[in-house]
Amino acid sequence: MKKYRAAVIGATGMVGQRFLMLLENHPWFQVTAVAASKSSAGKSYEESVAGRWKMSKPMPEAVAKLIVEDASNIERIAGAVDFAFCAVDLPKDQTLALEEAYARAETPVISCNSAGRMVPDIPMIIPELNPHHAAIIDRQRERLGTKSGFIAVKPNCSIQSYTPALHPLLEFRPEKVFACTYQAVSGAGKTLESWPEMADNVNPLIPGEEEKSALEPLKIWGVITERGIKPAIAPTFGVQCVRVPVTDGHMAAVSVSFAKKPSKEEILERWKTFEPLPQRWNLPSAPKPFLKYFDEPDRPQTRLDRDFENGMGVTIGRLRPDPIFDWRFVSLSHNTLRGAAGGAVLTAELLCREGYIINK
Ligand code: NAP
Repeated sequence: MKKYRAAVIGATGMVGQRFLMLLENHPWFQVTAVAASKSSAGKSYEESVAGRWKMSKPMPEAVAKLIVEDASNIERIAGAVDFAFCAVDLPKDQTLALEEAYARAETPVISCNSAGRMVPDIPMIIPELNPHHAAIIDRQRERLGTKSGFIAVKPNCSIQSYTPALHPLLEFRPEKVFACTYQAVSGAGKTLESWPEMADNVNPLIPGEEEKSALEPLKIWGVITERGIKPAIAPTFGVQCVRVPVTDGHMAAVSVSFAKKPSKEEILERWKTFEPLPQRWNLPSAPKPFLKYFDEPDRPQTRLDRDFENGMGVTIGRLRPDPIFDWRFVSLSHNTLRGAAGGAVLTAELLCREGYIINK
């Protein structure tokens, strides 16, 4: 199989570094371009990240010698790759403008940034939940005037701990969800060393996070219309997001009420038998299983379980009756793997398999 040539834009950052690790021995993708801001451009990748390599394993040899390009050099980068992953730290309007410029240069962009998430014709995909939303790409291409270029995004890392657990229960019509998330410092691009104020501390504010966490699941469950993806109107979400002193892994404590209340056995059975498209298609990064329920009363735990299925699976536990809602449970996902770079890689695999990304 001819590998797809991929660029990583924002390659020097925390999420960019994760991309490079995940793509090191990828069976379908090869990183042939790395790009960042002007201040990193022109140096080898190794030189440009010297002193700020944040991964626990060494940098892949194949990218160490690549020369970092200025991400605004769009024609040159777009001309040399089949598609691009994007994780840049820029104001939203500049991020969307950059991503659209790549798309208009006929280069599909799979983005970890939030800028395009609420644009109706940009699909926001969790491959196991809403792979069918890829169909909106045709409409986006009409708007952009492209043949192959488009933008697809992944949702915020916070929702990926609880939306996958709720998804197999949609047939019971969830009406109200209250989720409290316990989010790792890497979600802010930090480590416990670079953010010492978080040691022995809990911070009750993650700016903008609660709004995204309540809205984004509704787009994931939305329907495709003439005008783009129309978000679902239920359930109503109340979300409280707090930062906790862990390195990686976002946990959620969730309470939910249903129009048609399921039994405990029905919920457990839906989680156990959920086998979505990426798993059936054997996509290289698809976790098997996607969801795992623990019978042990003290699981999942962040440190023990965030790496379940290479950090791509979602773990669930403590399902029990709720005195205010119907049921409550705890769920966990890895924020920089499933919640960022890994989720984007799986989305790219899905879009290659469906023919939206092609070898140019
Ligand atoms: P980060 O570590 O601060 O990295 C930012 C990247 O953006 C660097 O490669 C930086 O390049 C590049 N950049 C900055 N200004 C640029 C410009 N003008 N042109 C081109 N590139 C520029 O941030 P991060 O944590 O990786 O997050 C990146 C994005 O992913 C953000 O939008 C974030 O919200 C999103 N995200 C993060 C997580 C997470 O868990 N951390 C999860 C989901 C989504 P230089 O090194 O040259 O400055």
